[in-house]
Amino acid sequence: MGMKTGIGADSEATGGTAGAPEPDPAIPARYSRQVLFEGIGREGQERLMASRVVLVGCGALGTVQASLLARAGVGTLRIIDRDFVEESNLQRQILFDEEDVRTLLPKAVAAERKLRTVNSLVRVEGLVEDLNAATITRLLEGFDLIVDATDNFDARFLLNDFAVRSGVPWIYGACVGSYGLTFPVLPGETACLRCVFESAPPPGVSPSCDTAGVIGPVVGAIASLQAAEALKILAGRRERVSRRMTVIDLWDNRHDAIDLPPRDPACPCCGRGEYPYLDGALGADTTTLCGRNSVQIRRRDGGRLDLDEAARRLAAVGSVERNRFLVRADIDAYRLTVFADGRAIVGGTSDPAVAKSIYARYIGA
Ligand SMILES: [Zn+2]
Repeated sequence: MGMKTGIGADSEATGGTAGAPEPDPAIPARYSRQVLFEGIGREGQERLMASRVVLVGCGALGTVQASLLARAGVGTLRIIDRDFVEESNLQRQILFDEEDVRTLLPKAVAAERKLRTVNSLVRVEGLVEDLNAATITRLLEGFDLIVDATDNFDARFLLNDFAVRSGVPWIYGACVGSYGLTFPVLPGETACLRCVFESAPPPGVSPSCDTAGVIGPVVGAIASLQAAEALKILAGRRERVSRRMTVIDLWDNRHDAIDLPPRDPACPCCGRGEYPYLDGALGADTTTLCGRNSVQIRRRDGGRLDLDEAARRLAAVGSVERNRFLVRADIDAYRLTVFADGRAIVGGTSDPAVAKSIYARYIGA
């Protein structure tokens, strides 16, 4: 189109119609700027409006992705999240407000309500659920695209197993501090998560937003990159999808695109067709401890925990006691006790989903 040098000539304020395509009754006028954009056009917009997308997680990444995809006019948007809105979320989770905190709204419910006011043409469905081996097929089946907005590796390895087995593309995204990375997984075409990272890191090794903090702009940047790849896939422009891993650090002013490894024929998941996370053979498992208002979390992969590291990190968010066997931290209303074998007992709840959430946030998975 050769319009790059003319940026700004037809500003938002003028609303100029010069060069606009003829009205198409099937495409609402609200999408005119996407229809004008040659990468999408009418055909791409029609595909978008017929598409079904599922977001796993509705925290920082998820709220930005959900907002962009609902505004872009995807057909169906399912949002899965197991958490409630808290005050410390508001710094970066752009769909939520103080009223959501006061009324203890689950994130999936708050997001659904807000998005319906943003674009009533989209079928938005917020589900307050925990994604695990038992629920994943029911929650993710039948979608064209899965977007990762989770906060832990267990969930990502689980959804990678599901996506590769069902041949559905998904888009990895992760942030902590001022750092973030993202890459798309196109099953059968590009490396899957297990081609890139052999297995989930041992618990407690990788920092999380709840222990190391995070700034809003990096979340917005990574979620926006994910949403852009989503638009390409959903608009039928798969050839434009990035085949590299984008890594950014907004505090160190670094922006890199790193070549992904090729698909590994020996990859247990996309090469050999083994899906241990999906089978429940790997990942975290929970047991509610009767009468103790506590849930025990056990890891199936035998990953051990570095107690010194865990104690150091937990000291930033609560009061910590420790001995050579365990670390105990009181965080808000919860008492988290972690053992060197990676096992944990979360006191203050009998809900396994809440316990897993606490574990993922402060220990990592
Ligand atoms: Zn693979």
